[in-house]
Amino acid sequence: MSRIAFIGLGNMGGPMAANLAKAGHAVRVFDLVPAAVQAAVDAGATAATSALDTLTDAEVVISMLPASRHVEGVYLGEDGLLGDIPGGALVIDCSTIAPATARKVSEAAAARGLQMLDAPVSGGTAGASAGTLTFIVGGEADALERARPLLQAMGRNIFHVGASGAGQVAKLCNNMALGVIMAVTGESIALGVAHGLDPKVLSDMMAVSTGRSWATEVCNPWPGVLENAPASRGYSGGFGSDLMLKDLGLAVEAAMGVGASIPLGELARNLYSMNHQAGRGKLDFSSVVQLVSNEK
Ligand code: NAD
Repeated sequence: MSRIAFIGLGNMGGPMAANLAKAGHAVRVFDLVPAAVQAAVDAGATAATSALDTLTDAEVVISMLPASRHVEGVYLGEDGLLGDIPGGALVIDCSTIAPATARKVSEAAAARGLQMLDAPVSGGTAGASAGTLTFIVGGEADALERARPLLQAMGRNIFHVGASGAGQVAKLCNNMALGVIMAVTGESIALGVAHGLDPKVLSDMMAVSTGRSWATEVCNPWPGVLENAPASRGYSGGFGSDLMLKDLGLAVEAAMGVGASIPLGELARNLYSMNHQAGRGKLDFSSVVQLVSNEK
């Protein structure tokens, strides 16, 4: 049993904290949204009154926040936590953020004698609830061994991809592929529908053919094709379109840093930017299909 401070209880962090509590850990939680804290308490966690208050006796600090600026703010900002984390505690940031920010925060942690991992995840909200996430970890191997039992309570696959920041780079590579695949899957189905095809029959065929992907099988962008996909509930829940836009922006930044060419990644970033401008930033990212269809 570990004493865990958990900060950020949104679509992902909420169910992740719940799984840690279910596995018997003592989880002290905080989020800016009181209802998110209450939901975690209902799932077996203990409420803290602030991010600082989560740290009481913490052996491990886990954060699951939207973007780089939130992670930087929570750890290094004016009331940043790094100075208050108990000595010897392990810090694990599971947010998807810029590799450079991950390195900056972990260097500041190291300067205080704290080990820190970047451990962004893949698997979506369904994976977070089911405890089947994939963790993509950057940092020291012995820190990962300390983290492993906790990650196993929230996930199924754990990849150590390199030193600090490497987890974020690998995660961006995955999400760039996902962003492109989702957009083109929506485009393909829209083309079929414009020719009078049934989107479900088309999707079922693609799901067992060479065009298959997570977008055809699990999170199909066309309403009514998959009962449990966000598309079938007005694109609510799931992985926000603006979060995908953020990740593609980070991929573009990361590519520029090393002079890599990512023509499709840049195109996809623009598509999700257009989706944002169309007012769908808070909807699931599969709503990008609405750029080429009139389905609601
Ligand atoms: P979310 O917006 O649902 O949740 C983020 C939570 O952080 C919110 O509840 C917010 O109130 C809280 N928060 C923000 N600033 C805070 C602060 N200073 N102190 C305490 N709480 C604070 O986002 P999410 O979908 O849970 O995603 C979290 C991270 O995981 C993002 O980096 C995202 O890119 C990544 N991710 C999301 C998914 C997905 O399917 N949703 C999948 C993989 C990775």
